[in-house]
Amino acid sequence: MTVIEIDDLRKTYKNNRALDGVSLTVARGEIFGLAGPNGAGKTTVVECVSGLRRPDGGRVRVLGLDPQGDRRALLQRVGAQLQEAALPDGIKVGEALRLYASLYDHPADWRTIMDEWGLTERKDSRFGGLSGGWKQRLFIALALVGNPEVVLLDELTTGLDPDARRTTWGLIRAMRDRGVTVVLVTHFMDEAEALCDRIAIIDRGRVVAEGSPRELIGAARATSLDEAYFTLTGRARA
Ligand code: ADP
Repeated sequence: MTVIEIDDLRKTYKNNRALDGVSLTVARGEIFGLAGPNGAGKTTVVECVSGLRRPDGGRVRVLGLDPQGDRRALLQRVGAQLQEAALPDGIKVGEALRLYASLYDHPADWRTIMDEWGLTERKDSRFGGLSGGWKQRLFIALALVGNPEVVLLDELTTGLDPDARRTTWGLIRAMRDRGVTVVLVTHFMDEAEALCDRIAIIDRGRVVAEGSPRELIGAARATSLDEAYFTLTGRARA
């Protein structure tokens, strides 16, 4: 079943064409990666999906809803990862989860989510004192506390050390295994290869390739997604 449908999406900021006709579909229960270099348009796609940004053209449907017209209904069913600045340093982990749960019509039990994501031992820790890895874990838990069907994660592992990154990958797989559809923005090809069921590679506002990691590697006759990426985009290694 299709959960997200994007058809010919267009967005120009002043005279900078950020999206130049992006089309893709995301199926229920998959981890779908939006991969590509910085400035490719990945965040703009996610912002159009969440209703934060109004496209200039094209059509977006999420769970059958229009993110612009049906934003309130969609907010109840789609979880988005917060940016760091969204939480005050002084708030405690438990307080943040309780507060976010109160914003939803049909939330999960925030204590259960706290337990499941290993946060109970940090319940009384203040956000400002958490390491990057613990903050990411809290952001994932907050994205899930509303019981969403779809979760949008943008550059979740940027700035994490390799251990914290792998832990975060495990948490994302656990999310998918519970039936949540995950859209993951990343510019790390190893991350996309390890984690995603399907990937759209975006470059200069267009989808240049789409498929499973195995299909993309095969199409490029490469040995890794990282290698395939350079073939498929025609970009030179830095
Ligand atoms: P990515 O997430 O792949 O790094 P973005 O969607 O953030 O790409 O950006 C795509 C292009 O749009 C970039 O050239 C970026 O500089 C530009 N852009 C993004 N947001 C804005 C904005 N609010 N105003 C002007 N230009 C923007």
